[in-house]
Amino acid sequence: MLKPYFELRKQFENGQTSVVDTVKDLLLEIENKKELNAFITVTDDYALNQAKISQEKFDSGNPRELEGMILAIKDNISTKDIRTTCASKMLENYKPIYNATTVQRLLDAGVIIIGKTNMDEFAMGSSNENSYFGNVLNPLNKDYVPGGSSGGSAAAATAGFCHVSLGSETGGSVRQPASFTGIYGYKPSYGRISRYGLVAFASSLDQIGIFSKSLKDLSSVCDIITGFDENDSTSANLKNTDSINHLGTDYSGLKIGYLSDDILSFCTDYVLEKYRSDLNKMKEQGHELIEIPIHYAEAWIPTYYIIATAEASSNLARFDGVRFGFRPEINEGENIYVKTRSEGFGMEVKRRIMLGTYVLSSGFYDAYYRKAQQVRRKITDSYKATFDKVDCVYMPTTPGSAFKFGSRNDNPIKMYKADYYTASANLAGVPAINIPSGFDEEGMPFGMQVQCNNFDDEKMIGYANYISNLINS
Ligand code: GLN
Repeated sequence: MLKPYFELRKQFENGQTSVVDTVKDLLLEIENKKELNAFITVTDDYALNQAKISQEKFDSGNPRELEGMILAIKDNISTKDIRTTCASKMLENYKPIYNATTVQRLLDAGVIIIGKTNMDEFAMGSSNENSYFGNVLNPLNKDYVPGGSSGGSAAAATAGFCHVSLGSETGGSVRQPASFTGIYGYKPSYGRISRYGLVAFASSLDQIGIFSKSLKDLSSVCDIITGFDENDSTSANLKNTDSINHLGTDYSGLKIGYLSDDILSFCTDYVLEKYRSDLNKMKEQGHELIEIPIHYAEAWIPTYYIIATAEASSNLARFDGVRFGFRPEINEGENIYVKTRSEGFGMEVKRRIMLGTYVLSSGFYDAYYRKAQQVRRKITDSYKATFDKVDCVYMPTTPGSAFKFGSRNDNPIKMYKADYYTASANLAGVPAINIPSGFDEEGMPFGMQVQCNNFDDEKMIGYANYISNLINS
């Protein structure tokens, strides 16, 4: 089993373990468990080559900050010369000519990329059942979905194929699979981590996020990839976070916001019960619990799905059979655009494009898109009012634990409700992190999330560590 990075690093440093052997063992392990389908591309030779370089750095006494850390990257994040498919037939053979900023910064810090992870096509989905490359199985029980859309990244981290994986979040795609697989999953404040090189789904919501079993490993990656990037016009002009130094802090007297009963009515009984018992522990420790003034909760999902689909329909217009990737055989009289997109996109992506085109069309723009923008403002305002009163919000990440394959994909609305508690943080742009909290009667995990005010990311990671120790003690 792969040891947490900082433990392993000590062994790399004193020569007890070789980086190359570690990577060889992992590649074998990935091959042995390939039915999990966590990867679209395993980077064998590339990873081994990087391992050799890392070993040399340790041998010469010059290891870089994250030398030899093993990383998996969601397949919608650009990796130079490594296939980046977005789990779509449309980009099946697409090799980017540049690295995403996050990838470049991590490579410069010495990480080893072990592979590109499977996902819902173009990051649209909550169960990883929408991939052109097949479903990802939940490593904890193969009958259950791993969550989505970053299901492969969550599975890779849970199965111990990497120390840390990168995912992307538009409406919960890091936190929700983290909840379903029992690990940490962090979504930054909008603008805190560069999106340069992330294939766009809904640009006003998209963020790259981080998964790990270890909060320390997660923080160390966070501290490398946060910070201003001139290549991303939405990047916040801030220095890198220093979250790792917030991990040991013993917070006392926190003001913790909790959800009102009506917002909690979507939760299963076991999540609700654990939520209440977690809150009780906080109270016993002397923290102040405050019911938060979050309004419009019933509009979180509809608002998210209107804005996300509208932006997706525009972003995905670039896949036209001319500029990128797939183009089918075109016979005389056939329309390249129509045929490419009919054959290149899967069903969920087409549904989103149609929905998005509809809400943006001149007859319905005011009724749907403009209205959704207005409601989004109200949601953001209610978050602002909340953070005037509390240090952080504590709430369920998902209404329940992982569900079985096939149990929701015939009903999109049922599927969309898996994002009930996650989408609001993306709409408001606030940071949020999933912490493993409990297990259902089948032994499947579920998580709770900590949310903080905009750009309080490093403090939030500190709170998450503190609260995680508290609720799991
Ligand atoms: N499950 C949500 C959706 O399908 C969120 C996706 C995401 O965050 N990328 O849109």
